[in-house]
Amino acid sequence: MSTLSIGFIGLGNMGAPMAANLAKAGHSVKGFDVAGTTAEGVTQADDIAAVVKDADVVITMLPNGSILRQVAAQAIKDMKPGALFIDCSTVDVESARNTSEAAESAGLLAVDAPVSGGIGGASGGTLTFMAGGTPEAFSKAAPLFEIMGQKAVHCGEAGSGQAAKICNNMILGATMIATCEAFALADKLGLDRQKMFDVVSTSSGYSWSMNAYCPAPGVGPTSPADNDYQPGFAAELMLKDLGLSQQAAEMANADTPMGALALSLYKQFVEDEDGLGKDFSAMLPRLAARSRDG
Ligand code: NAD
Repeated sequence: MSTLSIGFIGLGNMGAPMAANLAKAGHSVKGFDVAGTTAEGVTQADDIAAVVKDADVVITMLPNGSILRQVAAQAIKDMKPGALFIDCSTVDVESARNTSEAAESAGLLAVDAPVSGGIGGASGGTLTFMAGGTPEAFSKAAPLFEIMGQKAVHCGEAGSGQAAKICNNMILGATMIATCEAFALADKLGLDRQKMFDVVSTSSGYSWSMNAYCPAPGVGPTSPADNDYQPGFAAELMLKDLGLSQQAAEMANADTPMGALALSLYKQFVEDEDGLGKDFSAMLPRLAARSRDG
């Protein structure tokens, strides 16, 4: 693949290692983040205009749909005709469709391509991309997905990547809570956490939450639990994704009771307790400290 000029906007927990992997693969990467963060091998730019000017591809990795819309409005007007806009953030389906439409009307190609795999996947280049957009846009983006990830699924037209993502994260939110409450119960039953892990990680209760991102410190592979629950994937971002999935479920008239319950637990944790700024696996100390009376 020839060397591309890539503009990367949003160098946070996920964006920084993704941009660094593109630079490591030999592409010329310019980056911008309002917080002034940067990434290895990436040239820091002063503003969005400087990042997108002359870029063959612009990638965004931002906190939510309203920020994406603002950034896209600024970026699209300065991008060169025929360039590709890839949004990898997790946002609502409507913001994804709106951004693709705006890009296409400006003569650009667009893909919504949220990811799964967390910060480990972002640094290791092993993310899964779920993409929505035209076949032409997807095939142009695919070689970059190969660098940043291990799998890319073209899910359908614009917005389909986000639809797949919020369904995935509804499962993740519910399984993380189930994993944490099982550890909390095991504690109260006098079971050793390491033994719990040894059994469940190789039994039918296994999941990504247990096996790859264990919420118990000192147990399983290294995870945010081993770093005092510093994110990782912040509880408020999980709350956001669960909100997006319930919003979509309402729109589609789908019955999603476990997703709704996971949303209400993360809402309580983030808004009324001390969950804000902690990893979403910090649901374990929260549950472990409680009893059936609260
Ligand atoms: P983050 O908060 O660490 O990074 C977002 C970055 O965007 C921040 O550095 C912030 O300063 C920057 N930003 C905000 N507004 C900006 C603007 N106007 N211009 C330029 N930069 C701006 O979040 P993250 O964990 O990297 O997640 C990014 C996205 O990826 C979110 O949509 C999240 O839901 C999704 N995601 C995260 C994970 C994870 O494990 N962290 C996994 C999958 C998907």
